[in-house]
Amino acid sequence: MSRTRQLAGTGLFEATVPRYTSYPTAPHFGATDPHRTERWLGALPAGARLSLYLHIPFCERLCWFCACRTQGVRRPEPVAAYVDSLKAEIEMLAARVPPDSRVVRVHWGGGTPTILTPVQIGDLAAHLAAAFRLDPGREFAVEIDPTVTGPDRIAALARAGMTRASIGIQDFDPRIQAAIGRRQSVGQTAETVRHLRAHGIASLNADIVYGLPHQTVPGIAESTARVLGLAPDRVALFGYAHVPWAARRQRMIDANALPGAPARLALMEAAEAMFLGAGYRALGIDHYALPGDGLAAAAAAGRMRRNFQGYTDDGADALIGLGASAISLYPGGYAQNAPATAAYAGRIRAGRLATARGHALRLEDRLRGALIERLLCDLEVDLPALAAAFGSVAALLEPEVARALERFRPWLTRRDGRLRLTPAGKPLARLVAAHFDAYLRRGTARHSGAI
Ligand code: SF4
Repeated sequence: MSRTRQLAGTGLFEATVPRYTSYPTAPHFGATDPHRTERWLGALPAGARLSLYLHIPFCERLCWFCACRTQGVRRPEPVAAYVDSLKAEIEMLAARVPPDSRVVRVHWGGGTPTILTPVQIGDLAAHLAAAFRLDPGREFAVEIDPTVTGPDRIAALARAGMTRASIGIQDFDPRIQAAIGRRQSVGQTAETVRHLRAHGIASLNADIVYGLPHQTVPGIAESTARVLGLAPDRVALFGYAHVPWAARRQRMIDANALPGAPARLALMEAAEAMFLGAGYRALGIDHYALPGDGLAAAAAAGRMRRNFQGYTDDGADALIGLGASAISLYPGGYAQNAPATAAYAGRIRAGRLATARGHALRLEDRLRGALIERLLCDLEVDLPALAAAFGSVAALLEPEVARALERFRPWLTRRDGRLRLTPAGKPLARLVAAHFDAYLRRGTARHSGAI
């Protein structure tokens, strides 16, 4: 039997599952108020290492394929008002973390962070630096849209201390770009990369997407070759998530032009083969990095983590999300800000933290979350280590492990106590993770395809 048919037998091609950038996933958070967040902030250890995520939920135009929480904006006023809210939130949070805490990582994402003017970029960065103690060796990553990011903004970000740029590419094929509502030429992207390098930004991420309308194996190979020509040190190869019930703009995309699940697998593996052939290392389920990259080193040492930005080598004590819909992870659990910008700004104006939803982690959540995180980061799980860390509660996984070994044979194995996905079984990783998700069975949230 062919590998594709064997994989089909696991239900891979019909299954819809979360991406697991948290456990439980955000649809399973409950309504909450800011008091719990206040307590979690107050309980951070002395000298806490902090990671800050700033969400900029605005774009000049909305790309049809994108399911990010963002809104189109044509006037500068809403962005300026939002920056004021962010600055107020920065002050509120900085006043609540331990005074000797240090920020070791900053990430600006969106939406389009580069919708901010050079003056706003400098103002926001200066505000962060004044409010928090920033570690001199911090990483400062920014998501860059080459179609709206001119040299003036790159210069402003470089002055603000940006160390890593993450460039959205998707696919360079003009027919695909027309079908997903995002035009971005190779020349435009290369020009952005040239400006970034000229400003000393050595670390470059590129995001490309498989599973787009009209995408073919020769086509994705051509796009991948162009991406390799930009020499990013890290690449994320995401599967297009067609979720028009959650992202209405995706209704503009012709569902009949989308490749089916077996074709998606072929597209993903064609691009992957090219990255591996070019000397990149595979990290987790969908990232690739050159051997000298920090994330590659973290993965090799078993230190890679998974959070809302995807994979990270961030070892911070808390990830604090600022801005509308941003999610924080504290030692006690998750806290998500009000999703709508008006509701978020209203809370901040009233002098309150903007938490609207969240989840306090129980021991079983931590156990399942640890298993899922290790599986998606390392493609293997050290079960005795989990038992040592979590004690008797780990025993509740045993029947589920036995069922998983049965269901995913021969791709999932157990040897020397380690649950391991074989290299050929990597496409099953999210489906295996879902097998251990206790919330998925209770919820009604709809998800994207498992491959
Ligand atoms: S892909 Fe980027 S620019 Fe396009 S809608 Fe999404 S966040 Fe905005």
